Amino acid sequence: MAHARRGGGGEVNVPDLRAADTRSRATAEGLLAEWSVFIDFDGTISREDVGIHLLDRFVAGRYETIDARYEDGTIGSRQYVRELWGVLAGVDRGELLRAAREVPLDPGLDPLLAFLDAGGAEVSVISDGLGFYVHDLLAGRHVTVRANQVDDLDRPGFPFADPSCPCGLCGTCKASPLRDARRRGRRTAIVGDGTSDRFAVGEAELVFAKGRLVDWCTKDSVPYLAFEGLADVLGAFRELSAGRHGRRPARPAAAGRRRGDSPGTSGPGRSGPDLRDR
Ligand SMILES: [Mg+2]
Ligand SMILES: [Zn+2]
Repeated sequence: MAHARRGGGGEVNVPDLRAADTRSRATAEGLLAEWSVFIDFDGTISREDVGIHLLDRFVAGRYETIDARYEDGTIGSRQYVRELWGVLAGVDRGELLRAAREVPLDPGLDPLLAFLDAGGAEVSVISDGLGFYVHDLLAGRHVTVRANQVDDLDRPGFPFADPSCPCGLCGTCKASPLRDARRRGRRTAIVGDGTSDRFAVGEAELVFAKGRLVDWCTKDSVPYLAFEGLADVLGAFRELSAGRHGRRPARPAAAGRRRGDSPGTSGPGRSGPDLRDR
């Protein structure tokens, strides 16, 4: 959840997203209807990590060690969220929710959701953070939400944990719904910025990454499309559904690209995702 930084707008270098037989498809709807798109919440939909915003506001100096242990892999997110809620236990829930609402959402969210919805794609928001604000901040939008919960006793609940998953330690397993979608024959995409998204990229045909997720993809040799904001993701899906050629990057981006650098496409030994029919 750490490393939430604001990013500016930017244009993604979209690789050749045209499927070889795209022209035979009558409509863009026909193409996106195959896709299940999973979008992280904190730092991806919200412009900064809402959890970190709340922790900084209410319990600064008391959570950083927990955060560092999660980011370095010492504890999984289930334990992480439990410990964070332990620190937050004395803070009024209404105050937390009011503070959460101060965090702006990416202005590209609604155009992206509208486009994916019109194209027939399935869209899910997957969040492995503090969780309690996700439904509230997304109110009125046509998306499935999978997030950690907190009951009245300030006890975190993990309705979307998956004990059978190799990742094992996550509060909300991000790999599990992508794996399920693949089993249903869906094409999968994930949009994310953080450590929890790392566990899902192996199940995704198309990975949009920024922030810490770029580092993980680089480390794990996972091809990804760098993005700065959700408008970039919309641009890529627009290209995909239109069957247009995008601009191929001249070469893969340098390893360790960070948000704030000019966005591009990266991936060892690969210029972009292969979106042709399997
Ligand atoms: Mg995130
Ligand atoms: Zn899992």
